[in-house]
Amino acid sequence: MGVLSALKPEGVWKYFEAICGIPHGSGNEKAVSDYCVSFAKERGLKVWQDETWNVVIVKEASAGYEDREPLILQGHLDMVCEKKPDCDLDFEKDGLRLAVDGDDVYAEGTTLGGDDGIAVAYALAILDDDRILHPRLEAVFTTNEEVGMDGASALDVSMLKGHTVLNLDSEEEGILLAGCAGGCSAGIALPVLREQRRGVKLLLTVDGLKGGHSGAEIDKGRGNANRLLAVVLTELRKEIDCGLILAAGGQKDNAIPRESRAELLISEEHAENIIQKAENICAAVQKRLKEEYGMADPDLSICLQRKGTAEAEVFSEETLSHAITLLTTLPNGVICMSKDIPGLVQTSLNLGVLKTEQEALVLRYSIRSSVGAEKEALVEHLRRTAEQEGASVKINGDYPAWEFRKDSPIRKDCVRIYKELFGKEPKVEAIHAGLECGILASKIPNLDCVSMGPDMSGIHTTEERLSISSVERMWKYLLELLKR
Ligand SMILES: [Zn+2]
Repeated sequence: MGVLSALKPEGVWKYFEAICGIPHGSGNEKAVSDYCVSFAKERGLKVWQDETWNVVIVKEASAGYEDREPLILQGHLDMVCEKKPDCDLDFEKDGLRLAVDGDDVYAEGTTLGGDDGIAVAYALAILDDDRILHPRLEAVFTTNEEVGMDGASALDVSMLKGHTVLNLDSEEEGILLAGCAGGCSAGIALPVLREQRRGVKLLLTVDGLKGGHSGAEIDKGRGNANRLLAVVLTELRKEIDCGLILAAGGQKDNAIPRESRAELLISEEHAENIIQKAENICAAVQKRLKEEYGMADPDLSICLQRKGTAEAEVFSEETLSHAITLLTTLPNGVICMSKDIPGLVQTSLNLGVLKTEQEALVLRYSIRSSVGAEKEALVEHLRRTAEQEGASVKINGDYPAWEFRKDSPIRKDCVRIYKELFGKEPKVEAIHAGLECGILASKIPNLDCVSMGPDMSGIHTTEERLSISSVERMWKYLLELLKR
């Protein structure tokens, strides 16, 4: 007897438990992919599997539904593998240790992978049950979603007849997603000329910031440590002669940096006076920035430490001037808000990484927009500004947006049936982060798509939980949608 066998709907939990029994972290999807292929073969369903282990299963329409528009059901096979420090589970070999607590299913010591195992479970349970009425169903299970959506990018869609997608990779019941941002990463490299100098080294740090996700939290008004470091450097340079040895902050371009630092060099002569002056400037800037960011970032701190006398290679005056111009004039944060969806950030960028290499100062931005043309325009703006300062720009990891459709037949049906079933209006939203729907929309012309899912909390963490009652409500909702 399985841990979940008493739960309803039986079919969904049976397949969810089966998937949880097969290790399926990102990059390790072959076994779960093979499981889906065997499932299809045993039932005489058409199935495709590719070399990235994506799986497509097709079930023809029920009697009387042959003339309906085919429907694509989509989710991803991979999960994020996180475990508690004392957990001995081996994600490469072991199944998850499922448990039930009240209305929640969770996995002991690890992530549950409800994101997005529940999508696969729903689809298999639907495909398995010949009593369910439905149009031609095309179940699309992708791989590597959590680490760059490589599966969706590699997916061959030539066997798909549908132009309508129900993506099952959202985690709040009652919210229908109708759009997501596309994005890319922009790396700007400013060549660095250096000159040898002797002097007193100072370490300048900006820290105590909250940081956060560069998509979901870009509109929270939080400080970006790399940008604030540039503000301090600008103020220091107005009053004192200080050379820059290095500047660095942040680890990932898609995280708002919490901390950034610079090593400075000042002359040995009158060092005490200069340090005093520099400390006063730092204190004044800190006071000003605390007023500006106080609500969002109350622990912001700017600190200057003396590090002793040394020989060092500092940026040439010209390089430093280009560096500061880049850091202060390139845009950062929210660029514009959506006019269709209240509260949605439409376009933004985040200076996530600043680092100093021997030959170059590197700035890495994560750029996002739910409007493809705006993303292009922003990239072009970065390129022009960078080139004016003698820097070069490289773009990578480009992924397309899923643009909001004012007129979407599937969304209309989803809203209508939700109201009929639950007596209330679902919320229609879009997110300022990536979903595979954007990649599908770039491959399937005229794609009409909605993303939904049952209530989950703590996804990508060991606190992940999946609501049993919500899974059942979403199941009923899905069956009604198939009948539409
Ligand atoms: Zn997911």
